[in-house]
Amino acid sequence: TRTMTEFFGEYGTGKTQICHQISVNVQLPPEKGGLNGKAVYIDTEGTFRWERIEAMAKGQGLDPEQVMNNIYFIRAVNSDHQMAIVDELQEKIVEDPSIKLIVVDSVMAQFRADYTGRENLAARQQKLNKHLHQLTKLAEMYDIAVVITNQVMARPDMFYGDPTTAVGGHTLYHVPGIRLQVKRSRGNKRIARMIDAPHLPEGEVVFEITEEGVRDSQE
Ligand code: ATP
Ligand code: MG
Repeated sequence: TRTMTEFFGEYGTGKTQICHQISVNVQLPPEKGGLNGKAVYIDTEGTFRWERIEAMAKGQGLDPEQVMNNIYFIRAVNSDHQMAIVDELQEKIVEDPSIKLIVVDSVMAQFRADYTGRENLAARQQKLNKHLHQLTKLAEMYDIAVVITNQVMARPDMFYGDPTTAVGGHTLYHVPGIRLQVKRSRGNKRIARMIDAPHLPEGEVVFEITEEGVRDSQE
C-alpha cells in the first residue's frame, strides 16, 4: 500500500489474471496476506470476468458471493472516462474506507487508442502524467495499493537493450513506485521479476496460472 505497482509484459503473460487474484486476496485477513479490504477494479480492455473471481474465491476458501460484492467493478470506455473515474474515486474511498486496492487494467490502452500519431504524443503524455499522479496521491493519502498494468510488445526492430521495452515506458519510468516484469517461461510457467523497487531487493518468482488462480510454481 501507499505506492503504485506496475505489472508490465507481453500479451497473455498473466497481468489480468494477477489483477483478478489480488482483488480476491486483498479481502483475506492480514495473517493470510490480505488487508481485510475491498477492491476497485477499473477495466479498460473489457477482459474482466466475474467467473474468474468466483473460481479464485473458491480457490481461497472464500464465499464467492461475498468476494464479488467487495469488488467495485468499473468499465472505462475511453481515456477521458478513465480519468473521470479516478477523479471521483476519492469520494468513494472516503465513503468506504475499507477500499484497500485500486486496479487499472490496463493503464495505457485507452490513451494509446485516443491519442494516435506523433503530433498527439505530448498531449497524451500530459494527460497520462496527471492520471498517474492522481492514482499515486490516492495510494499515499488513503494507504491504498494501486496496481496498474501495461502491455509491452517485443520490438524486433530494436537491436540493443531489452527487446521488451514498455510501450510508453518512458512515460512510466519517472513515476515513483514498484515495477514488475511478467514473462513467459517453459510450459505454462511464468516469471515475475522485480525491476525497480525503492525498498525491496531485486528478485524473481516462478508462478503458474491455474483454474484456482495464480499460484507459486510447484518446482
Ligand atoms: P494482455 O496483455 O493481452 O492483456 P495479460 O498479460 O493480461 O495479456 P492474461 O489475460 O492475464 O494475460 O493471461 C491469459 C492467460 O491466462 C491465458 O493464456 C491462460 O494461459 C491463462 N488462464 C486464463 N484463465 C485460466 C484458467 N481458468 N485456467 C488456467 N489458465 C488460465
Ligand atoms: Mg490483460
